[in-house]
Amino acid sequence: MIYRGAFHAHSKHSYDGQQPLPALCAELRRRGDHFLLLTEHDDTLDAAAYERIRAECAALSDAQFLAVPGLEIRCWRTEREQWHIAALGVGAWIPRGPIPEVVENIRRAGGLSVFLHPHKYSRQIELAEIARFDGLELWNGKEDGHFAPRWRTLRLARAAAAHRTGPVLYCGHDLHDFDGIGPLALEIETDALTQAAVLSRLRDGNFMLRARGFRFPAARGPNALQSLGMLCWRGTYESYRALRRLPLVGGAVSAARRAWRPSDSGRRPEE
Ligand SMILES: [Zn+2]
Ligand SMILES: [Zn+2]
Repeated sequence: MIYRGAFHAHSKHSYDGQQPLPALCAELRRRGDHFLLLTEHDDTLDAAAYERIRAECAALSDAQFLAVPGLEIRCWRTEREQWHIAALGVGAWIPRGPIPEVVENIRRAGGLSVFLHPHKYSRQIELAEIARFDGLELWNGKEDGHFAPRWRTLRLARAAAAHRTGPVLYCGHDLHDFDGIGPLALEIETDALTQAAVLSRLRDGNFMLRARGFRFPAARGPNALQSLGMLCWRGTYESYRALRRLPLVGGAVSAARRAWRPSDSGRRPEE
């Protein structure tokens, strides 16, 4: 059976998450998701808190829905630069530290490391540097919107995928509340919905990434035609955003939206 799930999510266990974990799982279930790969910020947590998150995930899981515990850890690339690394399904608390050390600790704790939102960091990222991760977040719904990933991340991901040893690709919500749940999803084919089965498919890159209008294998990434499509979407989206910044156009769009949907006045879409 094919199971669909959400990657990169923050509940109230994270300092900036808005929903209790049971409410988040209930909402994802209601929307038809089968699993959640949790990535709680480590800022306000410790080993005891992580044990409670693991126990809560186990209690919220059954044959129809699986909550996989995990962390988003600040790691040091250099003294001045910190990267955010997801630790999926780790069986123990992972303390902060230099990237190679954290990645090794994640592996030892039976989990997977995923390099999150790479566009936020230095433009100089070497392929050898990201080869150590199990995964790379190609597409982050909160940062990139739901039309297409950033071109720079896509180029990095395609280069990594061409090197067969590169990390497999993920698309994530980076959700902090219900309104952060978007169309990006992971699809895993397995007989039983267990943490071991899901982690094993993720480790092997044996799953699909799904977005609005796109579906491609996590191990290979989008093909040339899909990449071209994404480039076109990205260009259109960036142009729209640039146009919205012009006072006259921005005012007209807001007025049209208010007239069309009066209850929706202050919200901006796809950011
Ligand atoms: Zn982050
Ligand atoms: Zn996050």
